[in-house]
Amino acid sequence: MGFSEKHRRFRNKLRRFIQQEIVPNIEEWEDKEEIPRELYRKMGQSGFLGIEYPRIYGGAEEDFWMTVVLAEELARCGSGGVAFSILVHTDMSSPWLTRLGTSVQKKQFIPSITSGDTVCALAITEPDVGSDMANLKTTAYRDGNDWIINGTKTFITNGVHGDLYFVAARTRNEGPRHGKLSQFLVYRKTPGVTVVKQLKKTGMWAVDAAEIVLKDVRVPIDNLLGEEGRGFYQLAEGLQRERLVGATLSYSASQKALEDTLSYIQRREAFGRKLSEFQTLRHRIADITTEIEAARRLVYHAVSLFAAGEECTKEVSMAKLFATEIANRVAYETVQLHGGIGYLRDSAVERFSRDYRLWTIAAGTSEMMREIISKHSLT
Ligand SMILES: Cc1cc2nc3c(=O)[nH]c(=O)nc-3n(C[C@H](O)[C@H](O)[C@H](O)COP(=O)(O)OP(=O)(O)OC[C@H]3O[C@@H](n4cnc5c(N)ncnc54)[C@H](O)[C@@H]3O)c2cc1C
Repeated sequence: MGFSEKHRRFRNKLRRFIQQEIVPNIEEWEDKEEIPRELYRKMGQSGFLGIEYPRIYGGAEEDFWMTVVLAEELARCGSGGVAFSILVHTDMSSPWLTRLGTSVQKKQFIPSITSGDTVCALAITEPDVGSDMANLKTTAYRDGNDWIINGTKTFITNGVHGDLYFVAARTRNEGPRHGKLSQFLVYRKTPGVTVVKQLKKTGMWAVDAAEIVLKDVRVPIDNLLGEEGRGFYQLAEGLQRERLVGATLSYSASQKALEDTLSYIQRREAFGRKLSEFQTLRHRIADITTEIEAARRLVYHAVSLFAAGEECTKEVSMAKLFATEIANRVAYETVQLHGGIGYLRDSAVERFSRDYRLWTIAAGTSEMMREIISKHSLT
């Protein structure tokens, strides 16, 4: 498979939308640390928020390669935070509904997700638990026809301004280590949910990250997502998509930073020559060009397996590890090749270097990716 004429047309349409509706506003949204809700609605109306969703719920029933186009193009918009916010909504939280939701849940929740009226967030991480997901402390217990949820979640992207949280909580204390979690759909406005803090981050300024306290939050039993006690496995499976999207963002934003750098070193002069004429710089350009292409090809390989429904945990982990680590190398080199300008707030590579620092941490750290790859290699 891969990209077809249909993907190319979609890319052109999306690129025009990003140039018109996103690029001119980025400075303002970065400063305000907020993306207006209107953007989601406009993206919903243009069909960008429901790429793989069923048509009956406002989706387009396209394939995962179309989602790769979405991530590649958003990565080039100039704000990692805007791209992150939209992809958390479309690919890092809501897809659990299509995979696991009952028809009642799908009918209830998906139409307002694809229209952009409801913005989604994924609430797994807690102040004491990140990588060790099976050890989450937030609890949920049954009370009649409700679940009662208690705990604290942190680093929740879209958590301040979003509407619907996909919450992971412990529903059992006994039994196997990986058989204790479940997933719940919780509206931010449910009584007992409090956003206690908007976190100050190194990068990704346009999108918010929240610390959230859930105190005796009552949700109906119908808001359990998937099977009680299978939350860990559901999450682990769903995280493959999140990792592929993070990897895609990483090589595509790297490519944009490379292009910005090529253009800069062909304009800037030192010692009577263009910077692009110094062999030492040309060789560094050659290295990062090669690394970005290698990252892209590794991601495409994992995407082709994922899109075909094949088991690809190892390939996805390799793609996520490599593409996000390469983005950090590219960030270092592109800032360096810009000289002092590269260290200024107004330069695109400076923001790229701050924003994409995140991706070796979020969606599973590089260390966790190495754990998964080695586990698959050694058994
Ligand atoms: C800006 C931002 C946005 C985020 N958005 C979300 C979100 O929307 N939803 C959400 O749920 N979470 C979100 N996260 C949280 C993110 O997924 C976690 O930060 C990440 O999973 C790592 O967990 P931790 O921070 O608790 O680090 P820890 O798990 O405490 O790890 C600390 C260090 O130890 C290493 N380490 C841990 N265990 C091992 C091991 N077994 N072997 C080797 N090394 C190990 C890690 O790799 C890391 O280097 C976000 C984080 C940030 C910074």
